[in-house]
Amino acid sequence: METKPANNFLRLKIAEEIKSGVATEVVTRFPPEPNGYLHIGHASSICLNFGLAETFGGRCNLRFDDTNPEKESQEYIDAIQEDIKWLGFDWAGEVRFASSYFQQFYEWAVVLVEQGDAYVCDLNAEQAREYRGTLTEAGENSPFRDRSPEENLKLLSLMRAGEFAEGEKVLRAKIDMASPNMNLRDPILYRIRKVSHHQTGDEWPIYPTYDFAHGQEDAIEGVTHSICTLEFEGHRPLYNWLLEHLPVPSTPRQFEFGGLNLSYTITSKRKLKQLVDEDVVGGWDDPRMPTVSGMRRRGYTARAIRRFCEMIGVSRSEGVVDVAMLEHAIRDDLNENAPRAMCVLNPLKVVLTNYAEDQLEQLNAPCHPSREELGTRTLPFSRELYIDAEDFREEANKKFKRLVIGKRVRLRNAYVIEADEAIKDAAGNIVEVRARFIENTLGENPEDGIKPKGVIQWVSAAGGKRAKVKLYDRLFSDEGPDRGENNFLDHINADSLSVVEDAWIEPSLIKAAPEQIFQFEREGYFVADRVEHSEAAPIFNKTIGLRDTWNS
Ligand code: ATP
Ligand code: MG
Repeated sequence: METKPANNFLRLKIAEEIKSGVATEVVTRFPPEPNGYLHIGHASSICLNFGLAETFGGRCNLRFDDTNPEKESQEYIDAIQEDIKWLGFDWAGEVRFASSYFQQFYEWAVVLVEQGDAYVCDLNAEQAREYRGTLTEAGENSPFRDRSPEENLKLLSLMRAGEFAEGEKVLRAKIDMASPNMNLRDPILYRIRKVSHHQTGDEWPIYPTYDFAHGQEDAIEGVTHSICTLEFEGHRPLYNWLLEHLPVPSTPRQFEFGGLNLSYTITSKRKLKQLVDEDVVGGWDDPRMPTVSGMRRRGYTARAIRRFCEMIGVSRSEGVVDVAMLEHAIRDDLNENAPRAMCVLNPLKVVLTNYAEDQLEQLNAPCHPSREELGTRTLPFSRELYIDAEDFREEANKKFKRLVIGKRVRLRNAYVIEADEAIKDAAGNIVEVRARFIENTLGENPEDGIKPKGVIQWVSAAGGKRAKVKLYDRLFSDEGPDRGENNFLDHINADSLSVVEDAWIEPSLIKAAPEQIFQFEREGYFVADRVEHSEAAPIFNKTIGLRDTWNS
């Protein structure tokens, strides 16, 4: 069940624009820089951009904003495309690259120079900072500001030819060194960078800045609504200035919204990369990562992520969304859609002394408590079975509604049993429980009127299998791991991963396909690992518990 898109301020604004004729079509774009994997913040931007195009019958482009070659790579380009498709979106036409417009950008730089709107400046970074002024003080004109267009053209072509060293010269727009908007104080348009580019190789020794690229890319592609996060609000006058001073084929407009911040979560590619590079996690797709591929491996569904993005909406200001909302969306989705199964994480053998050794029953259980169409599964029942060690005590008070010596419990979807004796090893550890099954208790209470205290999960020794289960929890133990003075590396949750080597799973789980998600009854939601799971060596990841244990 897909929820109908809620109204957000951008959707309302665009609807008005269409009504009044300000906009006649809606073309958006998602413009990732291929310098890392997509995270939950990007997912929200994807839902917004693709969602708006869908709502208004327009289109959304995927464009790699690849103007910083040293941090970019093909691995990221591939992963980003896979993640967008997995989220359920499809871009219009071919994948686009800012780098495929480099020649056009250069020709437009020439146009600006010829118009006297740009100049080559020799100030080094430190000098440029001094000339730039501050928020309260106007800047000063660069001594190179009045170079003639002819001289600038010559210098620009030498920059392009690779004749200067990095940092020796830049191309700057000639706008206003006294502007209260620092972005308009003769911003840099081109820098010399002698690095190979993943798309253009060694063709370019100069690369455009974000500011000189973004609006022009939008214009080339006919983007109508260029949506970005709030930090670019101050760049909008520059975005418009460039479009006004260049012979661009269309006039896109920039709109800002407050990007997503999530509690207990980091949404910065740079910091996420650090977690990967420093082996704090197993990789970009580690199930604890807030990356799209990490969430996928964790068992978060694309549907639930989309629903979460819809639920939190889009706001005009920056705020922090409680990660519990995301977790809630995941639980909701999985509760509705995940088939049920049984897994014993900490197996304790139970021997039913009154059940014949050669007897084997095939019991049936529904895969879902309320969705019959998900079918049934077969549970072998035999003399030896496993329950969770946590579910047994030799003695306990009344609050313990599980198995106790002399007391009864129901095995989920099976018989009621009564415990007689705990068998211990030399060290005093309980290694086995002797119990009896109570006849005629399939779906019925015992005839003698002594009811079981509770229901526990179990898996028959016959037909079950050993599995590895990775238990995940939030990666950070602090609500704002990188807020304020916090160094996020100091707030890693030491219990974010624990591995159970020998859980015991029921037969329906043995055939699980990678990425298939189940509710392990009474334990939570678990997914067959996308990378490492196989029938021969099953591996499940804990997606999330049945209840929120952080706010209780
Ligand atoms: P990061 O800070 O993680 O590196 P970024 O903004 O540099 O993110 P880009 O690849 O430039 O990453 O982002 C692609 C698109 O995703 C941009 O349009 C950007 O506005 C949007 N985006 C990035 N982070 C968020 C976020 N936290 N919430 C919403 N949108 C985001
Ligand atoms: Mg960016």
